Amino acid sequence: MSADISVIGLGLMGAALAGALLDAGHRVTVWNRSADKAEPLVAKGATRAATVAEAVAASPLVIVCVLDYPAVYEVLADVPLEGRVVANLTTGRPVEAREAADWVTGRGGDYLDGGIMAVPQMIGRPGALVLYSGSRQAYDRFEAAFGALAGARYVGDDPGMAPLLDLAMLTGMYGQIAGFLEAVALVESAGYPLSEFTSTLLVPWLNAMAAGQPEWVQSIESGDYTTLVSNLEVNRAGLETLVRTFREQRVKPDLLLPMKTIIDQRTARGHATEGLPSLIEELR
Ligand code: NDP
Repeated sequence: MSADISVIGLGLMGAALAGALLDAGHRVTVWNRSADKAEPLVAKGATRAATVAEAVAASPLVIVCVLDYPAVYEVLADVPLEGRVVANLTTGRPVEAREAADWVTGRGGDYLDGGIMAVPQMIGRPGALVLYSGSRQAYDRFEAAFGALAGARYVGDDPGMAPLLDLAMLTGMYGQIAGFLEAVALVESAGYPLSEFTSTLLVPWLNAMAAGQPEWVQSIESGDYTTLVSNLEVNRAGLETLVRTFREQRVKPDLLLPMKTIIDQRTARGHATEGLPSLIEELR
């Protein structure tokens, strides 16, 4: 069923969101601070609003996707929000999301925060995901429309949950990127073909290791760090070998060093026989 939806903010991501909604047959009203960015969308059938207030008035669902939260307030200041659902897909901190929810509901609107797990080119295609948190009623009302943007997942009524999970997923990604870059630098130092190493060795290995991580969660949740896999002493010695090898190959191990520090710390505290999931105790 097609819906009236306004999209505020037509940067790379906002334009992709509006385009996917148009492709899905929704009636889309758009507004952007620099008005020229609306033109390609108007050519595809969107209605251009002359002001933000006009865009907000045009649709019960208002999707906002601008640079940051200060820009959200700048855009929506003085605009009546009664009866509107504001779905804020701007990236931010959980605290900012909770403040924005209070601000919008205090003005008579309903609030959803969103974390976009995709680049603009993925929007409207399989593989894209958007996490939503905040008003369940608002999510249920517009779930079908959200489905036109990406796979949609509601993660709870705390508005801060979607941004927190978004940032947690990015954390996992940065950890993986750090490991990838160090591994490739080491292999490069030995002259082995990088593409062969990456495609046939590293990626299958990382996938196999990631598949075991749901089991780590059981250990973390129970606090039982007994292991039959490999204990911290073995991993401490392994990291020592790794770091020495990096130095011998004249490659900087800088992205690995924090991992070594934390393993050294945990074993020094007398936990050498525990498994790797026990490192979480050092982060709490
Ligand atoms: P762009 O830089 O392409 O666009 C930024 C948008 O914010 C533009 O519409 C810009 O308007 C607007 N804006 C900035 N400051 C203000 C302001 N003070 N008042 C009004 N409008 C303002 O960024 P993206 O579209 O890539 O990103 C938008 C949001 O989406 C960000 O929060 C980003 O983190 C998030 N996101 C982006 C992803 C990506 O891969 N691009 C992935 C996941 C999330 P103007 O055109 O007038 O400058």
